[in-house]
Amino acid sequence: MKEVKIGLEIHVPLKTKEKLFCDCPTDYYEVERPNVNTCPVCTGMPGAKPFPINESALESALMISKLLNCETRTTNIFVKRKHYNYPDLPSGYQRTSEPIGINGRLSRVRIWEIHLEEDPGRYDPGTGRVDYNRSGVPLVEIVTAPDMKSPEDVRNFMRELMNLLRYTERIIDVGGIIRVDVNISLEGGARVEIKNINSIKGAYKAIRYEIMRQKNLRRRGGTVRRETRGFNEKSMITTPLRIKETAEDYRYIPDPDIPPIVFEKSFIEKIKLPETPQNRRERISKRYRIPEKYSKILVKDKEIADLFEEVADRIDPGLTANWICREVLRQLNYRGIELRESRLNSKILIELLNQVKEGEITEAVGKKLLERIIDTGESPQRIVKAEGLGRVHAVDELLDVVDEVIEENATAVRDYRSGKKEALNFLMGKVMKKMRGRADTNIVIELLRERLD
Ligand SMILES: [Zn+2]
Repeated sequence: MKEVKIGLEIHVPLKTKEKLFCDCPTDYYEVERPNVNTCPVCTGMPGAKPFPINESALESALMISKLLNCETRTTNIFVKRKHYNYPDLPSGYQRTSEPIGINGRLSRVRIWEIHLEEDPGRYDPGTGRVDYNRSGVPLVEIVTAPDMKSPEDVRNFMRELMNLLRYTERIIDVGGIIRVDVNISLEGGARVEIKNINSIKGAYKAIRYEIMRQKNLRRRGGTVRRETRGFNEKSMITTPLRIKETAEDYRYIPDPDIPPIVFEKSFIEKIKLPETPQNRRERISKRYRIPEKYSKILVKDKEIADLFEEVADRIDPGLTANWICREVLRQLNYRGIELRESRLNSKILIELLNQVKEGEITEAVGKKLLERIIDTGESPQRIVKAEGLGRVHAVDELLDVVDEVIEENATAVRDYRSGKKEALNFLMGKVMKKMRGRADTNIVIELLRERLD
C-alpha cells in the first residue's frame, strides 16, 4: 500500500455585518437580485479607496486561530494583492492577508496557517453575467499540513473543524458555502491539487476518486503529473483544469492602500473564546447528569447538542439523551442528512417524548412516529389522535389478540411448549404487529405466558 498524503486549504466565509474593506452587507446567500450589495470599493472602480479593515473579521480570525491552537502573529501582517484576471475579480487582484495564526493543531492534523482574504464575485461562464454581491465578503482560509492519509481522515478532520467553527457562531453556515482545495500525493508521485469542492461529502468523494485514478494510472505504467484538477459534484469525478497562473504569476505585492495589521494587546485580550465542544461536554454531563458516552456524542454536532439542551430542559434528560443518541441520530445517518435538513425540531421532539414518558404511546409507536416526523414535521400528538395510535391499556382487548395469535400460529405454540423458548418472541412480535405497536411488550409476554404455560 502506497502512502497517501493529503493536505487541505479550507475557505470559510465569516459572518460579519459588512464586507472586509467596505460597508456593503454580506448576506449574498439570501439576496436574490444580483449586484445590490455593491459599491465602488467591492466592484473595483478606478480610484475607489478601501475602508480600514473590518475589525469584526479580524476578531473572528483571531478567535479561530486561538481555537486551532495557533501562535498569533501581532505586528506587520501585510495585506497583499494577489493578481489574476477573471471576470469575478473586477480590480484584477484579490486582497489576502499574511498569516494571522501559524503552527496550530486540531486533533492529529497540524495547521500551517490561518489568514483572511476577500471573496471574489460570482461569474457564470454560461451567461457571461457576474454578480458582485459576494465580492469582498471576508473569508478565513485554513491551511493544513499534509497529515491526512485517507478520505476517512479528511472527513473526520473536516467534521471536527466545521463543528468547532460553528461553535464560534461567526461563520456563514449555509450548505455548500465552504470551498475546499485538496492537495494529494501518493508515494512516489507528483502532488495533485483538486479545486471546486463545496462540501465534506464532496471532499471525501473527490479524494476517493483521485486515489483510485492515480493508482490505476500507475498500474498501467503512466506517471502522475503535477496538475490542478476540478471536482464535479454531480458526476463525482475530477477532471484536469487549465490554470494559467502559478504562484509566481500572482505577482503578490503589499496593498499600498492598506496599512499592515497590528494587534494591540488589549484587542487580543478582549476577544472572548466561545464554549468549545470539549467545554460543553463537561458542562452537559454535569448539568444534566447524563452518561459520558452520550455527552460525547451530543457535542460532536452543535445542532444536535442545541436540540438536546432545548429538549432536556423540558423533559427527562436521560430519556432525551437516549432518544437523540440512538433514534434521532440513527434516522439522520440512515438518510445521510444533517438535522437542519430534516423537519425535526425541539418542539415536536418534546411533544413526542412527553407522550412516551407519560405512557400515552409505547416506545415502539414513538420510534415509528419519529421515523415519520423527521421527514414531515407533523405534530406527533395529532397523528396519535387521528390514527388511534395511543397505547392500549385494556387487557380484554389485548387478550383477544393474544388468543387470535395463538390460534393462528399452532407451530410456534407447539415449539414453545416443547421447550423452544424463543418461540415466545415470535408470538409477541405477531401480537405487536396486530396491535400496531400500541401495546406494552412486557404485558403481552405476561399474557402469552399465562395462556401457554
Ligand atoms: Zn462594497
